[in-house]
Amino acid sequence: MRVPFLDLEAGYRELREELDATALRVLGSGRYILGAEVEAFEHEWAEACGTRFAVGVNSGLDALTLALRALGIGPGDEVLVPGHTFIATWLAVTATGAKPVPAEPDPQTGNLDPVSAAERIGPRTRAIVAVHLYGQAMDLEPLRRFNLPIVEDAGQAHLAKAGERTAGSMGDIAAFSFQPGKNLGAYGDAGAVTTDDAALADEVRRLRNYGAAEQYRHDEQGVNSRMDPIQAAMLRVKLAHLPEWNRRRHALAVRYWNGLMGTPDLQLPRVAPGSEPVWHLFVVRHPRRDELAAHLRSRGIETRLHYPEPPHLSGAYLDAGIRTGGDLPVTEAWARECLSLPIGPHMTTAQVDDVIAAVKSFGEDGKKLHLVA
Ligand SMILES: *Cc1c(COP(=O)(O)O)cnc(C)c1O
Repeated sequence: MRVPFLDLEAGYRELREELDATALRVLGSGRYILGAEVEAFEHEWAEACGTRFAVGVNSGLDALTLALRALGIGPGDEVLVPGHTFIATWLAVTATGAKPVPAEPDPQTGNLDPVSAAERIGPRTRAIVAVHLYGQAMDLEPLRRFNLPIVEDAGQAHLAKAGERTAGSMGDIAAFSFQPGKNLGAYGDAGAVTTDDAALADEVRRLRNYGAAEQYRHDEQGVNSRMDPIQAAMLRVKLAHLPEWNRRRHALAVRYWNGLMGTPDLQLPRVAPGSEPVWHLFVVRHPRRDELAAHLRSRGIETRLHYPEPPHLSGAYLDAGIRTGGDLPVTEAWARECLSLPIGPHMTTAQVDDVIAAVKSFGEDGKKLHLVA
């Protein structure tokens, strides 16, 4: 059986009639940037996250960058970031002119380790970016004692919860991505900032629209990062199905867990107490990760790596003098061993069972070879 990593077309097929009709309605509306459709989505998304405000922008990266700019982060500042994350978390910091200072992840969950954070926060640290990695919301309480603004990178955590709080409502300000592959995905790029702080929301609204408080009055150097009504309308259709689609992911994750428990050398994803992940990714660890991935590929199963190269070792930050290899051993171990198995709301239980069987058969071929030799 061929098992794709994620079948986006199946998501479209399920909602096709409603999506098609909605897209046509927006095309006929005469409004193609911001406007009532975007405002309606902003209200609905804020309500879903449990925040007062949401501001629609062009991408998750822009959402993060504008959130940091709204907090006043800029040149000369340091921002604490996870070493183990998608590079956008770092790029947003450097886009403001500030310097990312990486801390180690928890070896079990992959989320930022508050103990490591404490060691790396210094006199120039002005904010912390906490990433809810793989769809597991991290409890931000242990980070509050540093008395720094907390930006949530919730790009993988749509409606994930930690305790009573929903991702996006836990920090001072949060950034979401609605890139098509996310749990709530548009049909193109889109993102949003959420916050309870009216001043921060207003500032992001200005920054996304050329820094204009009113048309053609520019008090600061903004950008063009406006959500468009077609994406907003697609997201509104899909938002109604998000809880159900997240439940489907959860059921598949439980099935993976039960089926793979006890597999030698395989570390399954761990969930921190009180956290309710939305399983954007199902990431296992294995000391022979590349061989396991090749074994699965030979059986038609697509996997991916999130992420094989930590930002501090990437070409993008080579000359930034941030850290060198070996400085972030926990981060680097995640990069070496992580393997994302297929998961998504349109994957079948039969496909999950296929992946489980294929993972379990890894090593058996090797054993046979040894016996023959
Ligand atoms: C997807 C993602 C981003 C970037 O979002 P884009 O919309 O692709 O710019 C940032 N952070 C995390 C954790 C993500 O998963």
